Amino acid sequence: MTVPLLDLKKQYQAIRDEIKPVLEEICEKQYFILGPEVAGLEKMIADYCNTRFALGVSSGTDALLLSLMTAGIGAGDLVLTTPYTFFATAGSIVRCGARPVFADIEPATFNIDPDALCRTMDGLSGSVRDRVKAVIPVHLYGQCAEMDPILEFARDHGLVVIEDAAQAIGAEYKGRRAGSMGEYGCFSFFPSKNLGAFGDGGIVTMEDEEIFDRMKMLRVHGGRTKYHHDLVGGNFRLDAIQAAVVAVKLKHLDKWTAMRRDNAGCYRRLFRDAGLEEIVGLPEERQNRHIYNQFVISLKTKRDELKQYLLNSNIGVEVYYPVPLHLQPCFAGLGYKEGDFPAAENAARSTLALPIYPELTEDQQAYVVEKIREYYG
Ligand SMILES: *Cc1c(COP(=O)(O)O)cnc(C)c1O
Repeated sequence: MTVPLLDLKKQYQAIRDEIKPVLEEICEKQYFILGPEVAGLEKMIADYCNTRFALGVSSGTDALLLSLMTAGIGAGDLVLTTPYTFFATAGSIVRCGARPVFADIEPATFNIDPDALCRTMDGLSGSVRDRVKAVIPVHLYGQCAEMDPILEFARDHGLVVIEDAAQAIGAEYKGRRAGSMGEYGCFSFFPSKNLGAFGDGGIVTMEDEEIFDRMKMLRVHGGRTKYHHDLVGGNFRLDAIQAAVVAVKLKHLDKWTAMRRDNAGCYRRLFRDAGLEEIVGLPEERQNRHIYNQFVISLKTKRDELKQYLLNSNIGVEVYYPVPLHLQPCFAGLGYKEGDFPAAENAARSTLALPIYPELTEDQQAYVVEKIREYYG
């Protein structure tokens, strides 16, 4: 049996008849950049995320960068975030001229620990603390960070909150949608995300109209009228083709999310029945609506050996993420060292993502669990 980490061909087979006419129409119109498809998707995503506005952009990475730029964050500023996330979270902070300050994660959810945030802030000297302008919580693997204490912390210190919701479209925290809690919600349409385009794309959600207007200008080189530039922006535009594909897929998203959640329940049952609960740490599901962009297990020992064993058994697995950001060579200048964030470092050593995509069958899941049992047996 073969169990890929993700099977986008299967998804495409199910929606091919809806996708093709939409692509055909764009080919006939030859209208490719922004336009009615993007405006339509923006409205749909704002509705879906319970926000007033959404702005389509070129990628999830650019959603983060553009949010930081719109918030006026730049040289000399500091931004708090987690060291255990995809590179873009911290990369975009550096690209806008600011400096990331990391705070460790909660071992149970892999999301930033609100207590660690407070301790990190308290540990900064007064003048440095004044330079902290924003916090970027990441809703990792599809589960929201503990937003209540994070929002309270941000309020106390006057910080902008930028949610990195790239892996969490439709996730909920106490009834609130990912992307609707901070000033900015950043989403990615990278094909492997729960709502993926046929290439790169992303979107930013927000409540505030002034923020929306400013970001809209920055998306097209900072001009309201062509060739007149009030600000220095960039090319952060979303393609019509990508918006059209995402709009078709959005109609299926809740069904796909339910299938991912069912698959997570199935893994839990299978691991319990196999008597593997002591060996395989299963992901904790809080009160949040977890959308399972990834189903990530924790292994106390031999993670890499198990990974190789599963790959040899034609099971697609992956390590997200093997090197925490504070130990990346490009961030050596920030002055962090091994041991600074033990929970993030431990997660990097011990976690393994299993296939969880909607079309995954129960037989395939049983095969995955059987191979893990075989390895430890
Ligand atoms: C995917 C991802 C991004 C970047 O999105 P792209 O569309 O690939 O640029 C940012 N943050 C997180 C947490 C992600 O998973």
